[in-house]
Amino acid sequence: MKNTFPSYYKYFSCIADRCPDTCCAGWAVVADDESLEKYRNTDTPFGDKIRSVLSVDEDGDTIFTPVNNRCPFLLESGLCEMYIELGHENLCRTCRQFPRHITYFGARSETGISLSCPEAARIIMHGSDPITFETENTLDFPQPTDIDAELYFTLLEARKKAIDILQNREFTIEARVCAFLDFSRRISPLVRHYKCNEIRDAISADYFAKEKPPFSRRRKSGTLKKIFSDFREFEMLDISWKDALSSAEKTDIIGYAETVSDFEWEYEHLMVYFVFRYFMTAVFDGDLLTKAKLAAVSFIVIQRLQASVNADKETRTKIIQRYSKEVEHSASNMEFLKTAMKKSRCYGIENLINIIMEK
Ligand code: SF4
Repeated sequence: MKNTFPSYYKYFSCIADRCPDTCCAGWAVVADDESLEKYRNTDTPFGDKIRSVLSVDEDGDTIFTPVNNRCPFLLESGLCEMYIELGHENLCRTCRQFPRHITYFGARSETGISLSCPEAARIIMHGSDPITFETENTLDFPQPTDIDAELYFTLLEARKKAIDILQNREFTIEARVCAFLDFSRRISPLVRHYKCNEIRDAISADYFAKEKPPFSRRRKSGTLKKIFSDFREFEMLDISWKDALSSAEKTDIIGYAETVSDFEWEYEHLMVYFVFRYFMTAVFDGDLLTKAKLAAVSFIVIQRLQASVNADKETRTKIIQRYSKEVEHSASNMEFLKTAMKKSRCYGIENLINIIMEK
């Protein structure tokens, strides 16, 4: 198989007890069947301990029952008891992989690391050079798939175009995000209807606006109100996020935006992260527009969360990590947001562009 990954992927390794957060608290880890089989056959006192903490959640999944909202194997030192007792290879699949995410497209796969891990976020937001990607052959077997091969390869070209737009530093980050949205809007119905030749035609066009679009303050307020009230409806790992969202909604972005030119590349990396992670999954459901909106809405909300506390570099990265943990790592929040983006006109491309081009 061929596996594609961002070049920064190679630099990740879990910092365990030095981690300022932990992925072992705040949620229950689901144990996969293969690991459960191993744990059932672990004939040691530690095997007894594993079996004693297993329970079945409301979705019917077998989980390691949290104690005080922490994984029962998370030691006070921040180390993992399971890792110490049984080694990395015997962790369940979720713990072996996190924060790595992998998507299979038949004989190809794509791997990345999630911004919800502080160390991954630090690595992704570390250097200002444009993010690059590498492809390597792996020994994994191709996964069965029924994706349309022509659409898949055309979408690869479209994603390259999207990333080229986002990394075009001749333009401001706002202009780039808007051009990306415009491009996504143009090809979205073509993707849905498998019109690969027309997608290729659309790829060759220019999406940077020659003139700044007219700005409507009233429309901006209405759109922001809807976005932030939707975010406040989310299930939250940390309830203080609600207050942070309220402050972010009221923040005047203009003053902050003046300083953004010093670290525009951070938003570029953020957008490229979302595009790399989600754009190609349109080959499964034909819905490219929602993926593009997710990236743009994340840009809008994260920038305001950062502006509301006039964040320095370290805080900016922390805010991105927290956003990813609260939003991307909750299946119900992602579902809620995707539904809202599909149903509500507030999330229309014109409205998002209107907010972004206020500056
Ligand atoms: S959040 Fe990341 S760095 Fe922290 S313990 Fe988990 S994998 Fe390791």
